[in-house]
Formats: sequence, structure tokens, C-alpha cells
Amino acid sequence: MSTVAQKQLPLRPAGPATVDRLLEWYDAERRNLPWRTAEGARPDAYRIWLSEIMLQQTTVKAVMPYYGEFLRRWPTVKKLSTADLDDVLSAWAGLGYYARARNLHKCAVTIATEHKGRFPRSEKALLKLPGIGPYTAAAIAAIAFGEKTAPVDGNIERVVARLFALQLPLPAAKPEIKRFAETLVPEDRPGDFAQALMDLGATVCTPKRPSCLTCPLQPDCHASARGIAAELPRKTKKPQRPNRFGHAFVALREDGEVLLRRRPDAGLLGGMLEVPSTEWLAAKLPTVKAQRKAPIEAEWWPVPGAVVHTFTHFRLELYVYLAVVPVETSLNLWAEPERCRWTPRRKLDTAAVPSVMRKVIAHALKWQDK
Ligand code: SF4
Repeated sequence: MSTVAQKQLPLRPAGPATVDRLLEWYDAERRNLPWRTAEGARPDAYRIWLSEIMLQQTTVKAVMPYYGEFLRRWPTVKKLSTADLDDVLSAWAGLGYYARARNLHKCAVTIATEHKGRFPRSEKALLKLPGIGPYTAAAIAAIAFGEKTAPVDGNIERVVARLFALQLPLPAAKPEIKRFAETLVPEDRPGDFAQALMDLGATVCTPKRPSCLTCPLQPDCHASARGIAAELPRKTKKPQRPNRFGHAFVALREDGEVLLRRRPDAGLLGGMLEVPSTEWLAAKLPTVKAQRKAPIEAEWWPVPGAVVHTFTHFRLELYVYLAVVPVETSLNLWAEPERCRWTPRRKLDTAAVPSVMRKVIAHALKWQDK
């Protein structure tokens, strides 16, 4: 059928019948995810909250092992509230966006101390908790407590923009998409409706090749009828990420311990451990100037190549120096000794070291081990 002919189809607006078909599809096809309860069982707000915080900016596959480990160590929000923040940060290492892990812990403490260990049941009250934004509050309220509200994540955004053929580009389109999503939320199964849209977006209405022929929304989908599904949602072009440069100093003691420094609590990678490094600047420091920033007196050897890491807002290039030093080596003032510690290599796996610093250490040790 030509696009012209498709445009002339008298499409029904999406409504209750659309929702019924979607829920029917969900009952048959829903993904089996560990944070979901069996059909008819009562959802657990702790599990939903934990999974939703972990799933921000990453995939289900990446989250699975972390989710399992968190639940094993801290099976309830009360248990998590009594955990050492360092342990939480270590268990989070590799998931990125560490502010989320700090807020996760803070939120657990708030729930334990101010809400008697129980999640508040309304979207409005959930929104007041640390680290819980509009999407997460709506997701917990709908899924765990059956509140009639519409959480809108990336998957849902895509499905709704296509279903109604909304042309405004993201991110400006967000409020409009939310409004359209809200028109569809059913009284009786708001949580299943949200999860059905999430599943549909993840498995059928995928970004590049939506499978419209097998989609339960197809009879009412305006983007599919107009042959523009893969073009939606439109997006405003993102400005290119700026580059930043820095120098990192991997000091390895003869007894196999590595020098690490704790980053300030506020800001990027706050509270995590790092290899002492210079500031991350828009231009690369000359080598002589950079070496003056070394945390200890030693023979610093420039490791060939560089470590590149991409953060949300910038791309970082780190030039790495390596020194093997005697056990009795003392720290310079620059290294802020009160924030520095020697850490055995065998403990690096479980220490709160972010991915970028793991890359730096691996890069240096690869050459050291040669
Ligand atoms: Fe997405 Fe196609 Fe389904 Fe429309 S019909 S919601 S574009 S998969």
C-alpha cells in the first residue's frame, strides 16, 4: 500500500480498545525480569525502586548481575540503610553515574528513619525522596502501588511518539508525550500498562526497525500508517562532547599496593577512589608541568598511549605515568595524604574504583607486567 493511500486511512485515535490489546499482548509476551513479581502477586516497591535506579542510562543486561548482588547483600531497604556507603559504592562500581549510588543509600536511610522502613505510596511523596525523579516516582507509584499515573522512559517515549505521530523533536517534546501517555492510562492496571509499554518499546517498537506487523498497537498507530515510524521520535541534534585532558599517576609499591585517593564527596565520581591525577582541563598540560603534579617523588615513566573515557558531557583523555616505589615511600603534600591510601592490588576488584580509573590502572599494569 502506498504512503498516499495509507494517509487516507480513517485511523481511530488510540483509546481503551488500544490499551486492552496492549495488555492482552503483555499478558502473553511480558519479559521475565527478576524485579517483576509473578502474575497476581504483590509487587515489591524496594525491588522496583532498585531496578529503576540501576536501569537509568543503561541496559537490562548490564543491570542484571548488579541487581542480583545488591539483593543478595541487602534484601530489604532497611538492610541497605545500615550498609556502609563505601560498600554500596564498591558494589555499584562499573554501573557509572555514582551520584545515583550515593543517593540510593541516602534514600534508603531516609525511608528507614523517616518512613519506618516503608516506601511512601504516592507519586507526590515518593518525589520528595533523595534521588527519585519524576520518572522513578511515577514508575514506583504505578507498578508497586497501582496509582493511575504515567511514567515515561525512553522506550515509552518512543512508542507514544509513534502511536500519535508526534513530530516535535526531543527533548522539547517530553511534556507533550507525557500528556498523550496520560490519556491512555487505565484505572485498573496502571502498573501493567506502564510495563507493557516498556516491554513493547524494548522488543517490538525498537528504535531502528519497529516490527509493526506483530505490534498490538498497529491498528491505531499513526506513525506506522504514515510510514514514518523509524523516523520518530525526532531529536534535536546534540552538540558534540568537548574534550578534556589530564595526567594520572599510578604509583605501585614494591609490596604490590597501589596508591589511591578519595575524590571529594560532591561532584563527578564523588566519594569514589581514583588514581591521583591532575585536573581535567580543556588543553593538555606540557609534560614537565604535569610531572610536577606527581603525588610522590619517584622515577615516573610515561606509559605509551592514552586512556579514553566518555562521560555524558565530555570525552576524557588521560595520559598515564607509572612508578614502582619502595614500601617506605612518603606522600607529597599535593597528594592530600589524608585522602590517600595504599590499596593491595588484590582488593581493587571490590574497592569503590570507577570504570575510568580501572582502565587507567589496567593500562599501567599491562606495561608494568611486560
Ligand atoms: Fe511502534 Fe509500529 Fe507498533 Fe506503531 S505499530 S507502536 S510504530 S511497532
